[in-house]
Amino acid sequence: EQTKVLVSACLLGQRVRYDGGHSESGAKILAQWRAEGRVVAFCPEVAGGLGTPRPPAQIVDANGDDVLDGKARILDETGDDVSAAFLAGAQATLEVAQKAGIRVAILKSKSPSCGSQRIYNTLPQADGSATSALVPGMGITTALLRRHGIEVFNEHQFDQALAYLESLRPNP
Ligand code: SF4
Repeated sequence: EQTKVLVSACLLGQRVRYDGGHSESGAKILAQWRAEGRVVAFCPEVAGGLGTPRPPAQIVDANGDDVLDGKARILDETGDDVSAAFLAGAQATLEVAQKAGIRVAILKSKSPSCGSQRIYNTLPQADGSATSALVPGMGITTALLRRHGIEVFNEHQFDQALAYLESLRPNP
């Protein structure tokens, strides 16, 4: 049996983004996986109880790992601390992934939940204001999945994801 792949729901055309839109990927391999029934679609933020649309949120000057460890917070644009909802969403994602025996996820780049290489951070400035910047790091869901041995790629890394899936196949 072919292993299943967890995929960010927004990459599959579901309108679950903070702005009410989607980020549908036209990748052929994704269409093939869907046809094979191998895709598990999931949105951590919706699962964590956040509405759509919702105010955009960012990790404050840290990585998803730091939020998992309680050392950093996720604030939305209005200043509300949404760390608990993001954490609940990450845990729900892990649960779904583990139940489906998933080892590989394709998650949307740059998101505070799903990002895996770079994420937008809120960076407090000396004068009390804050700026937003794309920094190296991963979102909280990606951090939790990786802690549990699930490798996360983004929508620009289907080749790497395929190679990794291949490497997981038992030798004949
Ligand atoms: Fe897409 Fe992930 Fe954001 Fe949900 S949390 S909209 S799946 S990037």
